[in-house]
Amino acid sequence: MQICENLRPEKEYEAVIGMEVHIQVKTETKLFCSCPVVFEADPNTLICPVCAGFPGTLPVLNKTAVKLAVRTALAFGCEVQERSIFSRKNYFYPDLPKGYQITQYEYPVAKNGRLKLGKRVIRIRRLHLEEDSGKLIHRENRTLIDLNRAGVPLIEIVTEPDIHTPQEAYSYIIKMREILRYLNVSNGDMEKGELRCEPNISVHLKGEPFGTRREIKNLNSIKEVEEGIRYEISSQIDRLKKGCKVRRATLLWNTRKKQTEEMRGKETEADYRYFDEPDLLPLHISPSLIEEERLNIGELPDDRRARMEKEYGLEKENIDILVSRKPLADYFEDVARLTRDPKRTSGFILVEFLGFLNEKGLKVEEKPIACKDLSELINFLKKGDITRTVARNILPLMASGESPARIIKRLGLESLERKDEIEDVVQRVLQQYPEEVTRYKNGKGGLFGFFIGEVMKATKGKANPTIVGEMLREQLSVERRA
Ligand code: ADP
Ligand code: MG
Ligand code: ZN
Repeated sequence: MQICENLRPEKEYEAVIGMEVHIQVKTETKLFCSCPVVFEADPNTLICPVCAGFPGTLPVLNKTAVKLAVRTALAFGCEVQERSIFSRKNYFYPDLPKGYQITQYEYPVAKNGRLKLGKRVIRIRRLHLEEDSGKLIHRENRTLIDLNRAGVPLIEIVTEPDIHTPQEAYSYIIKMREILRYLNVSNGDMEKGELRCEPNISVHLKGEPFGTRREIKNLNSIKEVEEGIRYEISSQIDRLKKGCKVRRATLLWNTRKKQTEEMRGKETEADYRYFDEPDLLPLHISPSLIEEERLNIGELPDDRRARMEKEYGLEKENIDILVSRKPLADYFEDVARLTRDPKRTSGFILVEFLGFLNEKGLKVEEKPIACKDLSELINFLKKGDITRTVARNILPLMASGESPARIIKRLGLESLERKDEIEDVVQRVLQQYPEEVTRYKNGKGGLFGFFIGEVMKATKGKANPTIVGEMLREQLSVERRA
C-alpha cells in the first residue's frame, strides 16, 4: 500500500538528542598557568603571558583540574584512560589569543560512562579537559575583550544521541548538575556560565536512520535548553514534511524571538586542523590517583535517596527535595539524629525552616540555626510545650544563637495548657468584635477564620488552634441560640 508522505501522522517522527555539556570546575587557578579563577573580577586583571597567549610561553597543567576530572569521570561510571593527549584545536576568533584552544580530541581523559534517569540510561561517550576562551563584550559599535576567563579549566561531557525529548534533556541537566554539586566539582550555575549546554538535535521517521543534526549554542538556562530543543524538533519535522532537507548547522538561540537562528554552516573536523599539543607531555593518570578520587566521590544522590527512604521511611517526594541539595540533606540528617523523629523533622524543615530561610534570604550551608537548637525546638513542639505557630515565630530569634528554651522562657511562650485561660481570651475577642459576631450569625461563616486569627494574636500564638476552634464554635453557637 502506498502512503502519501503528507498523510504520515506526526507521531511517527522521532527525535534524537546528544548533549555536549561544558562545566567550569572549581579550581583556584587556571588550567595551564597560576592566574586565579574569580567570577566578575575587573576585566583583564587575571591574566599573564601564558593565558594571554604571548609567544614563547609554555603551559603547565593544573593537577587539581585533572583530579576533579577523574572524580567526575568515575562518578559517571566512565573508564578513566591511563594515557590521554592534549591537542590544539585551531580557529581564529578574537577571544582566543593563541589562535588555538588546548583541548583533548582522540584521546580524552575518560570514555564510556552513563547517567541514569530513573530507568533510562543516557550513555556518556567521552569526558575531557580543555581551556575556556575569553569573553567578548559588545558595546554599541565597539567590541571589548576580557581575557580573565581565557584558560579557565572546563570539563566537557558528551553523550551518545540517547535523549529523545526536551523534558528528558531537562532532567539530564538537572541530574548532572546535582551530581556535580555533590562531587564538589562545580556549582553548575548556568547564569554564571559555570554550566553550558549544547544540544545536537535531529529527527527521523521511526525505523529509519538518524537524520541530520543541528547544534544549538548560547542557551542560558535549563528552561531555554528545553525550549530550544522543542523549537528545533518541530521546525525540523515541518521541513521534512514539506519535503525539504534539514541542513547541518550551528544555531544560536534567540531569547527574545524564542527561535533558533543559523550562526554558521557546521565546521568539519578538518577546519580545526587538530594536532597533538607539542608543549605538553601525554597525561598519565596513575591507579593511585584514581583510587584517591574514588574515595572522594562519597555518597551520590540516587544512592542517598534509596538509603534515606529505607532508613527514615519518609515519602518519596520529601526525600527528593531534601536530597536535591546536599547541604539540606546533611542538615536534615544531623537534626533527625538528635530528634530521633525523622518524620516530624522532615516536615518541620521542609515547611517551616525552608520558609524561614526563604523569607530571610539565607542558605542552609550558612547554618543560621545550629542543629542542636533546631532539634530542641522540634522536641518542644512534639511534647506540646509550644504550638507550631510559636515554633515558626521564634525561628528568626534563634538565628542570634539564643537557645529555644531560653527564648520560650524569656518571652513566656509556653502553650496555654489550661482551657479556662484560652476561654477567657476567646470571650474577650468576641466582646471586642460584636459587629463581626452579628455578621457571622447572619451567615457570614467566613469570619470564623478571623476570630481564630484574633485569638491566636491575643495569645501570641500560644493557644492550641484546635482547642481555640472548638471553643469558638461552642461560644458562637451558644450565643446564636441565646
Ligand atoms: P562534533 O564534535 O562535531 O560536535 P560529535 O560526533 O562529537 O560531533 O557529536 C556531538 C554530539 O552530537 C554528541 O552528543 C552525539 O551524541 C550527537 N549526535 C551525533 N549524531 C547525532 C544525530 N544524528 N542526531 C542528534 N545528535 C547526534
Ligand atoms: Mg560539537
Ligand atoms: Zn595566566
